[in-house]
Amino acid sequence: MKSPRYSNLFGMLLCVIALTALLLNTLADDLHWGYSGDAGPEYWGALSPDYALCADGSAQSPIDIRDASVLDLVDIEFRYSESANTIFNNGHTIQVNVDPGSAIVYNGIRYDLLQFHFHAPSEHTIDGMPAPLEIHFVHQDANSGNLAVVGILLTAGESDNAAYAGVFDHLPAHAGEPEAKGEPLSLAALLPQARSYYTYQGSLTTPPCSEIVRWLLLDKPVELAAQQIAAFTAIYDGNARPTQPLGARDLLQDSA
Ligand SMILES: [Zn+2]
Repeated sequence: MKSPRYSNLFGMLLCVIALTALLLNTLADDLHWGYSGDAGPEYWGALSPDYALCADGSAQSPIDIRDASVLDLVDIEFRYSESANTIFNNGHTIQVNVDPGSAIVYNGIRYDLLQFHFHAPSEHTIDGMPAPLEIHFVHQDANSGNLAVVGILLTAGESDNAAYAGVFDHLPAHAGEPEAKGEPLSLAALLPQARSYYTYQGSLTTPPCSEIVRWLLLDKPVELAAQQIAAFTAIYDGNARPTQPLGARDLLQDSA
């Protein structure tokens, strides 16, 4: 006769195996995509059914900015404040999480700032030309879940950009390193003075490539020192998805 005790042990063992498999599967899902080789952008859509839009979508990002229609568009209202921040390396980029409270208002909708992160080279190109870096400020509409991402191109200038020092002096070199605490940031100081912009409806530039993003790409770059750019590209160089077809979408430029 089978001992109930062994049967319980066997059940527990099965349970541990199942949980381990689930955990490994979750990790694999998260870590499987990348920017080169057989997990690179051209294969994202085939890696998982959840990533199908990366291959089949019709409103994908980034795009090459050219031949935009010039219109007098509404301003992006930035309600950025001082914020503590945590800086971490998520295996795909360096991401900075900020305190709740900062937001933009665009076309009457408030989008809360969640985080910002970087791509090298830039993901959006202007007349085919990339910039050395692009920063993405990711905001979310609490009601719809839709995102508004403000993109800024970062170019090499003469001197250190002090507003960014709190981030670039604390870049975690390796994925999974404990997050770093930067000095409190004045988020508004990270923006250029002139805030006219290009806009189009697009997607996340990483899997699952969800088509839920109002893109707001400022048309004036911000300058960083070459050493600041080098500090990032020493860690990530090539974490940019290639540009995607504009297709039937409108690409607008603010005339301001
Ligand atoms: Zn991004």
